[in-house]
This record gives sequence, C-alpha cells and structure tokens, in this order.
Amino acid sequence: MDNNTNKYVCSFCKKTQTQVNRLIAGPEKVFICDQCVKLCSDMLSNSKTKEISKYTNEEFLNEISYPISIKSELDKFIIGQDTAKKILSVSVYNHYKRVNTHKISKLDISIEKSNIALIGPPGSGKTLLAQSLAKILDVPFAIVDATSLTEAGYVGEDVENILLRLIQAADFDIQKAEKGIIYIDEIDKITRKSANPSLTRDVSGEGVQQALLKIIEGTTSNVPPKGGRKHPDQEFLQINTHNILFIVGGAFEGIEDIVSKRVQTNFQSIGFQSDNTEESEKTDHLASNEDLLSFGFIPEFVGRLPVIAQLHELSEDHLYDILTQPKNSLVEQYKTLFSMDDLKLEFEKNALQKIAKLAIQRGTGARGLKSILEETLIDAMYELPGKKLLAKIIVTESSINEKNNFLIYDKDNTKIKYNDLLSKSA
Ligand code: ADP
Repeated sequence: MDNNTNKYVCSFCKKTQTQVNRLIAGPEKVFICDQCVKLCSDMLSNSKTKEISKYTNEEFLNEISYPISIKSELDKFIIGQDTAKKILSVSVYNHYKRVNTHKISKLDISIEKSNIALIGPPGSGKTLLAQSLAKILDVPFAIVDATSLTEAGYVGEDVENILLRLIQAADFDIQKAEKGIIYIDEIDKITRKSANPSLTRDVSGEGVQQALLKIIEGTTSNVPPKGGRKHPDQEFLQINTHNILFIVGGAFEGIEDIVSKRVQTNFQSIGFQSDNTEESEKTDHLASNEDLLSFGFIPEFVGRLPVIAQLHELSEDHLYDILTQPKNSLVEQYKTLFSMDDLKLEFEKNALQKIAKLAIQRGTGARGLKSILEETLIDAMYELPGKKLLAKIIVTESSINEKNNFLIYDKDNTKIKYNDLLSKSA
C-alpha cells in the first residue's frame, strides 16, 4: 500500500494497480505486477542458459576433448578409417555431453542415448577403435563376444556378465564403471536368421537381442559379483547402465547386397528408371538402420543403435603403414622385444611391403600382419636370446616366407650366417 495515494503497488517496481495489467497478491501485503513477473521469468531462463553454457565451456570441456582432438588422438592408433573415426569422435563427444547434462539437475532437457554400430570386415580396426576411445577418454572398457551370450535360463553367459566385466575393469568402482564403454563383438551373429553353431540349439539370436535390449537402452541391473548362476547366495552389485556407451561391431557379411537392393528400390519408387543398374550398384552406399532390420535385427534393437559407422577393407598401403606408424606399432613391439635381449632388430622396406602383400592374400585384414611377423621371427626369437656376441638382425624381403634368411651382425659389425650361428656357442 502506497502511504501517499492509498493504492496497492507492486512491491518490486512500485507501480500502482492502474499502471499495470495485473497485480498479484502474496502473503503479508506483498504484491508483484505482471511486468515484474515477466522480467523475473526472463532472468531465470537467461541464467538457465548461462548455467548450461558456463558448464559446457568451463567444467565440461576440462573433462572431455572436442571431437577434433578425439579424432587426432585416434589417428595416432588407427590407420585409415577416417569417416568412422570422425563419426565416432562426434558421437562420443555428444555421449559424454549427454552424461554431463545430468549433473545440472534443474535442466529438463534430456538428450537421448546414442549407442554405436560398427560395420566392417575382420581385422579392419573395429575393436581397436572402441579400445582406443576408452584409452583416450580414460574410462573403463570391456569386450564381449555376442555369440557367448544367451537368454536368461540357458546354458551360456548371462547378459549381466557383460556388466560384471566392465565393473572388473573399473576395479569394482561402480560409479566409474557407469561411465565406461562396452564393445560387443560379432553382433551380426545374433540375428533372427543366424544359425550360429556356437549358440545353443534352443537359443535364438532374437532372444539374445531381447536380453541385451534392456541394458543397452539403460536400466538398473543386478549383477552377480562372481558371475553366472552357480553362486545363488551372493549379494548383487547394482549398476545403472544409462550412461554406459555400447559399441557393437561385426562384419555383417552380405549387408552390401541389402544396401544396394534398398537403394535401387528407393531409386525406382521415387520415379527414376535406371537402365544403368551396374552403375548404381557400384556406388558406395552406406548401411542404414533399415538395412540392419533387413539383416535380421528386431526393430527395438535397431532403435537403440542410431549411429552406424562403416569401416572399409584395408589396402596394401594401409597395412604397410599399420606395421610402422601407429603408436605401439607391431614393428615397434618386436623391436622392443629384441632390445630386451640386447639385439637391434631392423626391417628393410621391401620386407615390410612383402608382409603387407602377404596379409592381403590371407584376407584377414591387419590381423594377418601379426601372424606373418610371428612366423617370420619365431626361430630368431627362439635361437638368438643369450647369444651375447650378436648385435643386429635385419629382416629382408627374402626373410619372409623363406625361413631364417636374416642378415645378422655381431658386435664387431661382422656379418654372420644364420646357420653358422646355430653351430657356434654364445
Ligand atoms: P576387427 O575388430 O575389425 O576384427 P581389430 O580391431 O581386432 O579388428 O584388429 C586386429 C589388430 O589389427 C589390431 O589389434 C591392430 O593391431 C590391427 N589393426 C586393425 N585395423 C587397424 C587400423 N585401421 N589401424 C591400425 N591397426 C589396425
């Protein structure tokens, strides 16, 4: 009440009843006008945005790198696969952005979880990608094989055991595990149609998909700390899976046909008539969720995998680079092993080229590289340790596939024949 005019006034701006549209009364003769209500509401919504941006710019970004830096970290470990690395960097960035918005309790925005499907031939780097991401982000990581999983009640591994693996990777720190990454390999083997010999006769791929669905979409799970059903009296560990990032991967053999069939049908159904079928088949189209459905996944499962990244087959040049370039490359690993025996290991360029060529012939992607190197060096790793007069071993083109054809030098830089060496004592 204004003492001078005897009129009701807004307690905030002192405007009288006649100067505003509405005056709302509170207890103890306190009033607020419609204009001040609007002003307060604007101030509140501004501070809410500020709250997000303050958090996003300061605290959040201290915790997680930008997609560009995630990608450049991935580049240190993974050769090629640029598109997949880009897609993964963005989805992982968004995933942890989503995880962190939960920290701001007043926000009523909820960003949906985006688990990721990786499609690519064996040995193209799917597991390595998922593993490297976890390493870069410093979060716990677990790998499971989809073919080992079963619906509850069947012989095999319960899906809860996946979570146990992650909890173990987090040293039983549940909160840490709740932000981890789980990679489910061979996901393409649990389709409706799959006749996978490793699945028990009664267990359908669809049943396993159903069982996985809950934990992938986010639930609170009770995990037996010792795994399995053999310990019925154990106390369960409770873990919330809402913020766990699931990456599923597989070769998805035959998906190219499904993709090109869909592309062609769509092309025709929107009124184009193409005589040049070969041309449209040649185009490198990317798999979509629709293709995963046709491949044999149930719609609910596909719905939980909104991000799909495709990895390409690695070329001979890629394989050559994989031998030497990544952090912790195979060549570096073997050099380190030999250096522990005081031996310098070197590779001639054409030796590495031959290894890459041979790996292509084997058709197992980068996986072949390791086995070729192992086959090449096995005898040297067996015979040479302890032979203290030796200094250097060079792998040449003819060392590959032709047993023990290395160049070996002793500490005086004298060349030694491998076979002579075997008859000499150290
Ligand atoms: P996938 O899961 O696609 O079958 P992996 O990621 O298990 O293949 O690859 C097997 C091994 O091959 C890796 O541990 C790594 O040493 C090597 N490798 C595969 N792809 C790449 C790549 N793109 N860049 C570097 N190394 C790779």
